[in-house]
Amino acid sequence: MSQDLILAVVVDAPQHSALRGVLSYRSPKAWPPGTLVRVPLGRRAVCGLVWPQPAQEAPDPGVALRPVMSALETLPPLPAAWCELVAFAAGYYQRSLGEVALAALPPELRRLDDRQLALRLRRLERLRPTGGAVPAVPEPTAEQVAALQAWREAGPRPALLFGSTGSGKTEVYLRAVADALAAGRQALVLVPEINLTPQLEQRFAERFPDRLIVSLHSGLTPAQRLRHWLAAHLGRADIVLGTRMAVFTPLPRPGLIVVDEEHDPSYKSQEGARYSARDLAVYRGRLEDCPVLLASATPSLESWHQAERGRYVRLTMPSRIGGAALPAVRLIDLNHVPRSAAHHEALSPPLLDALAQRLARGEQSLVLLNRRGYAPVLHCLACGWKSGCPHCSAWRVFHRADRSLRCHHCGFTERVPRACPDCGNPDIRPVGRGTERLEEQLAQALPAARLARIDADTTRAKGALQARLASVHAGEVDILVGTQMVAKGHDFRRMTLVAVVNPDAALFSSDFRAGERLFALLMQAAGRAGRDAAQAARAEVLVQTWHPTHPLYQALRAHDYEAFAASQLAERAMAGLPPHAHLALLRSEARSQEAAQAWLEAAAGLAGDPEGVTIYPPVPMGVPRVANVERAQMLVESASRPLLQRFLAQWCPRLHELRGEHKGLLRWAVDVDPLAI
Ligand code: ADP
Ligand code: ZN
Ligand code: ZN
Repeated sequence: MSQDLILAVVVDAPQHSALRGVLSYRSPKAWPPGTLVRVPLGRRAVCGLVWPQPAQEAPDPGVALRPVMSALETLPPLPAAWCELVAFAAGYYQRSLGEVALAALPPELRRLDDRQLALRLRRLERLRPTGGAVPAVPEPTAEQVAALQAWREAGPRPALLFGSTGSGKTEVYLRAVADALAAGRQALVLVPEINLTPQLEQRFAERFPDRLIVSLHSGLTPAQRLRHWLAAHLGRADIVLGTRMAVFTPLPRPGLIVVDEEHDPSYKSQEGARYSARDLAVYRGRLEDCPVLLASATPSLESWHQAERGRYVRLTMPSRIGGAALPAVRLIDLNHVPRSAAHHEALSPPLLDALAQRLARGEQSLVLLNRRGYAPVLHCLACGWKSGCPHCSAWRVFHRADRSLRCHHCGFTERVPRACPDCGNPDIRPVGRGTERLEEQLAQALPAARLARIDADTTRAKGALQARLASVHAGEVDILVGTQMVAKGHDFRRMTLVAVVNPDAALFSSDFRAGERLFALLMQAAGRAGRDAAQAARAEVLVQTWHPTHPLYQALRAHDYEAFAASQLAERAMAGLPPHAHLALLRSEARSQEAAQAWLEAAAGLAGDPEGVTIYPPVPMGVPRVANVERAQMLVESASRPLLQRFLAQWCPRLHELRGEHKGLLRWAVDVDPLAI
């Protein structure tokens, strides 16, 4: 027994646990780092990963180390670069190594033994390229040629492909992928959301019929996810198309990482290790000496700033394919619409006229409202009762289809009461509107129009989204009503009108990124109009607003992302906000708001007065109570990323010391580079 080796192993244990580090086990065999093993932990057997560094705690000579129980020998070890990426992410986002490492693997892998895995590996043979004819590849435009030229000469810097919607960005990175494949490499293509992948997957399959393409996203069954992941890890898949989780896909021959719509908020995880897949993609590129291509019509201000400083190479494609003009943006000033119409109807007369014109010409329209449900709140006219959620500091949304009141924060759902629960008045009314009500109003105003609605409610069932999108593409829909889900990515060929019903709220949000997000959303939405050059001249974007002179709308009218970015960056510099400063949030959840804040106070006390780092006082979250839990947060800011990182690294591990004195505390978490504050 004394001949046994000592192996360093990480297991899935949270950052505040005593098991967060690298643990020591005895082993009769020197499994290489990156090998998945089964090890005893307390009374359980858990999945662990042999780690490429000695155990942190020298084993106490008095303590008998426990042995590794088994190893997945059939699985090639995870590459050293993969372990390095995990180690970086764990350190940067203040999580334990094992937590990040194991969360990055397909869950199915943890359950399998060697025999079962061998079976799965044999079945991989069944994954094959789709086959088919080698496609006719379009002749690149002059802008595409120039972008590709600059990309090939970019050297090790990441490239930011800044191109208008419909400028042919996808075509550019298809060609970059072709280059990587021709060099015998694999390409990883990240996309923001699952609903964007079907069309893109098809486009890739058509372009590369003799290559194996796999997808990785949360819509796959556990077995599919494992199969696709294995195909990537074993080097059989040439192209991996996936959402943010795919940034951790091990690739033996990485040759290109593309981040499509790199500004999209869904690249930032909102749970567990709150990593940014875009930022990790850039880091990974450096680590594996692999070029990185970020693409967007409205880059994140972070990436734009990097391009301005010359850290990223900027590739610019201002023109739409086929010389199509960008759609004219018209602002409908609600101050000049007759008052009753403006207040009670979502649809102003000019907007209805524009819709009716499209209908008469057989063209399609998109009406965007970023709020689902029928109405955001029900209200009693007699006593003032409102449909609050008993468990949250939020209103419950009225959904008419199933006559329910639903809390979008905690999910609490009840049937709509027949009368006011407080005073018995039967006259309770919806206030405001969501997509459901908008659809109803459109049906009344334009009875001949064929309507379809796409939002989280209408697309819950498997395949529902694809079916609806297909009927839009097939021309079976005249007016598509939807939330931001429909604004992005889709190549709708017959759409000549995009109408945005009520985007003003974001102009006055306390969230410093709200303006950036709104601008991106509106530019994306505008990009759905007039994609077909033959119709582009008639394409229009209508925005109903009470604030038509707002600079954001003026920049939108001019399709001028650069002016918008410059003014936002100047504001952020003045206010000391990202990308000019670096932020982290410490969040706490407790039974009472006092307890949540008291813990944060104590955490600030532990920090002392760190160099170059400012800690702000704790405040309740925007929605302080969710599911009967009170939530608070504390902002930590620094002009220097390294100083902030150094501070977090010494501060966060100490925070669990505070737990004993704060009984009311339920959970806490750190969010590094938070999206919203
Ligand atoms: P983006 O990704 O910038 O929105 P796409 O790459 O989707 O733009 O291109 C928009 C449309 O133009 C697509 O239908 C695409 O097939 C077509 N397209 C792209 N590049 C070319 C080209 N060089 N010649 C002809 N059509 C092109
Ligand atoms: Zn009442
Ligand atoms: Zn609730």
